[in-house]
Amino acid sequence: MLAATYPGTCALVHADAFQLLVATVLSAQTTDERVNQVTPALFARYGGAAALAGADPQALEAIIRPTGFFRTKARALIRLAGQLVDEHGGTVPGAMAQLTRLPGVGRKTANVVLGVGFGVPGLAVDTHVTRLANLLGLVATRDPVKIEQQVTAMLPPSQWTGFGLRLIEHGRQVCVANRPRCPVCPLQSWCPSSSTRAGPTAGRRARRGAPPGGRRA
Ligand code: SF4
Repeated sequence: MLAATYPGTCALVHADAFQLLVATVLSAQTTDERVNQVTPALFARYGGAAALAGADPQALEAIIRPTGFFRTKARALIRLAGQLVDEHGGTVPGAMAQLTRLPGVGRKTANVVLGVGFGVPGLAVDTHVTRLANLLGLVATRDPVKIEQQVTAMLPPSQWTGFGLRLIEHGRQVCVANRPRCPVCPLQSWCPSSSTRAGPTAGRRARRGAPPGGRRA
């Protein structure tokens, strides 16, 4: 049902793995639309890791300001680009271990870059995936590494990237935090947390993002 509802594609506009990595770092605490507004000017001025590593922080901040936390993000991007130049010849590595050694890159960002940029299956676990995986009864934990392990064990690798991206879309559009729209949700007939189910606690669980019965690990 998720596959019939959402394309499972990444909304961050990018031309290569470097642009995808930068856009994913910028997407923290903001929307993909906001990131897509600033990246054309950003990549026109800083076309690769070497240019970004040598960026004037204030000039970079001015470009990425609409994405919020722009001073922190500017510093993070310059450090990240510097490490790409120093250790990877200015290219983005295509392996989890190398990606997560880059400054500011965790498993979530690495899985987006691997899945979308390199075609390497990965489940990116963000706040939406955490909430949805619990509400749907797939897991009973908020630990992102455990969620990644448990959910990927349920799916063929070819589905990992798309499933995560679809859960994120569903969390943005329908199963919104604290105000899930269960009556119009295409998953309502399967979802154990749906407020349309009989029982006094289902709707409260959906609003709290709590798992249906299981203890959290
Ligand atoms: S039925 Fe409600 S709680 Fe379940 S996934 Fe849909 S919106 Fe979320």
